[in-house]
Amino acid sequence: MPAPWLAPALVLALAGPPVSFSPESLWSAWPSVRFVTMSAPCLRHAELVEWIRELEARHPGRLSVEQVGRSVEGRAIHLLILGSGPRRVLLWSQMHGDEPSATPALLDIADFVLSSPDPQAAAILEGATLLLVPMLNPDGADRYARRNAQAIDLNRDALQLTTPEGRLLKELRDRFEPELGFNLHDQDRRTTVGSTGRLATIALLAVAGDEEGTMTPGRARAKRACAAIARALEPFIPGGISRYDEDWNPRAFGDNITSWGTPVVLVESGGLPPGWTYPELTRLNFVALLSVLSGLVGNDLAGQDPQVYKTLERNQDDSWVDVLVHDGEIWQPPSGAPYRADLAFDRLDRDPLLAACDAAGPPGASRVREIGDGRFLGAAHRIDAAGRLVAPAFTASMRGLEARQWLDEEGVATLARLGVARLRWRVEADEDAEARAAAGLLEGPGWPVIEVTEAAAEGCFLEVAGRPSAPSSMQLDHVLDALTLNGWRTRAAGRPLAELLGRLSACPPAETPTPALAPDRPASFLLLRPEPRAAIGQAREAEDLSLEAVFIDGREPAAARRRR
Ligand SMILES: [Zn+2]
Repeated sequence: MPAPWLAPALVLALAGPPVSFSPESLWSAWPSVRFVTMSAPCLRHAELVEWIRELEARHPGRLSVEQVGRSVEGRAIHLLILGSGPRRVLLWSQMHGDEPSATPALLDIADFVLSSPDPQAAAILEGATLLLVPMLNPDGADRYARRNAQAIDLNRDALQLTTPEGRLLKELRDRFEPELGFNLHDQDRRTTVGSTGRLATIALLAVAGDEEGTMTPGRARAKRACAAIARALEPFIPGGISRYDEDWNPRAFGDNITSWGTPVVLVESGGLPPGWTYPELTRLNFVALLSVLSGLVGNDLAGQDPQVYKTLERNQDDSWVDVLVHDGEIWQPPSGAPYRADLAFDRLDRDPLLAACDAAGPPGASRVREIGDGRFLGAAHRIDAAGRLVAPAFTASMRGLEARQWLDEEGVATLARLGVARLRWRVEADEDAEARAAAGLLEGPGWPVIEVTEAAAEGCFLEVAGRPSAPSSMQLDHVLDALTLNGWRTRAAGRPLAELLGRLSACPPAETPTPALAPDRPASFLLLRPEPRAAIGQAREAEDLSLEAVFIDGREPAAARRRR
């Protein structure tokens, strides 16, 4: 411990030069003043408790930390109280366990307000009492799941109060009767601002307290708070702020807390603009909440025009995809000819994986969102397929347990690079268990799916004869030679290219062929380029096309292999 007379100098040294409370200064100060240095999706309950202890130790006597409840599984839920002013403001985060962005921001705000020498910090502490509940749903947070350990959505439990976490929130509301509440969530990261094609990085709602959306003085304050947030954040996410669905939700907390007398502002952190990472969402919450608290203690947000809130465009949820393969021609059975269509799909990765948290688990599956006209879709990644054919990836078969000799990680990766997305493995009954065990070791997103089946089952047109050889080029006929050790040629003799392509992606028994690339199916496809410089429609045989890229369940196989 330093001598008491050293303390103020030490605090100043830690805090660095004074930071004013303008949004621009808060935004630029955050990287150096942030208290929680973990990315929000990586923060679990045990770590949060450590951060809270550290915060308490750093501001002895200036911050009250009360364990106010426990989750279903017994995890402690804390209330942090700072300031002593008459304006009581309740802020809670992560009532949905997989919506973490505001949780670190609440601790960052507490530390910043208690450390900053700026008169605005003192004004907040003197004008308001801040009641912070970071991570209301710790059981959900530890599973990165929306619901609590009873599988109940806390935000639909405001009336029945079945959940201990929901009961706690109501108790805190009734105990403190705050004049304003902030309900801090994350929304679907593919939500857009209306049809602008821009991601809704922040969505706001001045929650109604009844079905008619009656305007009360409290709700007017909530609208001014939304206006203050929109104004503060606009420079950092131009065009990236939307208005959340306003419909009255009779079971939700925001709606009921508003009706119980505490108007609620809903803040939803959403999608990351290109180049952004999760901490930027926490940073936006930091700037937004400090700006609004500063305005609240100043003049009750008097300068904020509620019209700003009203003019925000609504959330839209069908206008953004992860990947758009555009301007290509799709060729898949039963269509006999290529047709002009874009292919849009999502990769369903969880935030902790994308945030590169430790032990985040395997990558998610893919899901086709649209086949057709994608020109109005926003996309995180675009693949220009102009002049290319987009065809379903191959389905192949192979026979006998001997295949184990080459069917290792390298063998599977080779099959994937040559375009095989599904592999039917036909074995005798007494080989079945061994084959399944071997196949189980080779499961993974971005890898071919291996289905073990009986030896008597029909083989596919594309029969893999052994370890694939290295193709002499990526010309389609050479790729097929490598996969089948030339065996495909006799079967293909005389078949038109359309029929060949159809057979490569499906196995008998042939039902009525259905398009493999269709909404809700996995995005397993090939990009084929006409050779040499032929127009798509002029390709007649396998040698007229070359395999340019392979996507298996939404990923290029090389990337899948590195991730494993
Ligand atoms: Zn939520």
